[in-house]
Amino acid sequence: MPGALSRLLRSFGRRTGILQVRCPACGVPAPADRADGLCPGCAAALAPREGGFCPGCGAMFGLESYEPALCGDCRAAPPPWGRFIFHARYDDPLRGLIIAFKYNAGLEHSALLRSMAASAWERAVNQPSEFAPPPRRPDLVAPVPLHGKRLLWRGFNQSLELASAVAARAGAPLEPAALQRLRDTRPQSTLSGSERLTNLHGAFEADAALVGGKRALLVDDVCTTGSTLRECAKSLLEAGAKAVDVLVLARA
Ligand SMILES: [Zn+2]
Ligand SMILES: [Zn+2]
Repeated sequence: MPGALSRLLRSFGRRTGILQVRCPACGVPAPADRADGLCPGCAAALAPREGGFCPGCGAMFGLESYEPALCGDCRAAPPPWGRFIFHARYDDPLRGLIIAFKYNAGLEHSALLRSMAASAWERAVNQPSEFAPPPRRPDLVAPVPLHGKRLLWRGFNQSLELASAVAARAGAPLEPAALQRLRDTRPQSTLSGSERLTNLHGAFEADAALVGGKRALLVDDVCTTGSTLRECAKSLLEAGAKAVDVLVLARA
């Protein structure tokens, strides 16, 4: 629904008492002055990270008022992608919303998180800076895939859900089959440093017919160690993709 219309309906609902408007993040009654319906507290706590980050890997430094700048790691060893785009740090309340979204099969917070992912793309395009050039429009948007077993159990891939919102905003086709997970892997957070290196090796395969010669935008919900994104980006490039950019909701 267009923002103006939904705002009008909400303010009508509030004045007449027909519609109790609640913040989609915390559930308290919220004023009708924002398109996303957030209460002032959640709007502040869920605001995007505007500066003080590395556009290559999302590492955050210093104050948010600092210009984005490439970190030492990305200067020494550039990641396999061009731009790394994200909404904000993986802290509460964003963290709690993402966990609820993921484990309740997208029944909670879907509209809110989808709009955050789409806005992250838009911000990157519209607010470039010296070290954070705008990403180029992708030829396809690829979600990080879940393994079949996990997908059956959970019935829902959060990355696909977010990727579809980003694809719509970027005006590019969503390509859920661009990447395949060949085998189930243990969560990286449960492994030691050396196990992490081998755990994901060869876990993904990209479809050369779909990605060859294309510019891909890879989408996931959270980036913790970055190893999953790295393996996915490498697979896309090995299958002939021309370039890869990355977008996640939250950077740990
Ligand atoms: Zn709230
Ligand atoms: Zn970096």
